[in-house]
Amino acid sequence: MAARRGTHVVSCYHCAHRFEVGGKTQSTNCPECNQRLIVEDVVIKQLTPVKQVNTCGRLVVHAKGSLLAERVHASEGVEVLGSLQADVTSAGPVHIGPKARWKGDCSAPRLSIDAGARIESGAFSVPRDDEDPLLLDTRA
Ligand SMILES: [Zn+2]
Repeated sequence: MAARRGTHVVSCYHCAHRFEVGGKTQSTNCPECNQRLIVEDVVIKQLTPVKQVNTCGRLVVHAKGSLLAERVHASEGVEVLGSLQADVTSAGPVHIGPKARWKGDCSAPRLSIDAGARIESGAFSVPRDDEDPLLLDTRA
């Protein structure tokens, strides 16, 4: 599905329905399941303990950020430069930077880990690129 100018297509992390949102939309309700969706990127800049993070965008953990969560779902990818402790499902690429600390499971269509990154524990699953990332959907 190609997005119209100024819009982009997101996929609902509750029901996997795909729909267009405006470029500046921060959150919306899924037209299919009517549940609330965070559309914008989630940026972590400090110690952030939360139960879970869900976004149709990306999760970015800055070098001084530290995310402590049970579960993370990011539709467009995850970038960790600081520290992250969570079980992560991403439908986009996951990048773990050179000074990052990672603890938790990771499922993503692409994964890159820089030399120097510290992986403390976790089960990593990276299916082939040609598989539909939506198959990774882990609706609870
Ligand atoms: Zn939905």
